[in-house]
Amino acid sequence: MIRSWMMRFMAGRYGGDQLNILLIAFYVILYVVYLFTRMVIFELLALILIIMSLYRSLSRDLDRRRGENARFLQVVRPIARRWNTFRSRTHDREHRYFKCPNCGQQMRVPRGKGRITVHCRSCGAVFEEKS
Ligand SMILES: [Zn+2]
Repeated sequence: MIRSWMMRFMAGRYGGDQLNILLIAFYVILYVVYLFTRMVIFELLALILIIMSLYRSLSRDLDRRRGENARFLQVVRPIARRWNTFRSRTHDREHRYFKCPNCGQQMRVPRGKGRITVHCRSCGAVFEEKS
């Protein structure tokens, strides 16, 4: 009963996406900050975010909402990729990372092998690197 009402209500509406998840996440963070600080500005900002999120979910202008999410992902994806690379490198104790002195290509060598000759697969440069 409630389920079918919900389905009829949401028909033709936008629903959720990555941008909405971020809006809700920031809403939760700001609301927790508000609970600790009791500063009204945080409650107000949290309220704005949750209203934006609801407005987007219930919107019937699907093209515009998809466009917003696409622009959001365009900004966030490179940042997320760089963050993931950084994290996997800091956890990798078996390799040393460096850039090719000729073309700047990211490379890695196994640690603890002394000075080794490295061959860049990108530009073909050959050089020595300590590992
Ligand atoms: Zn190179």
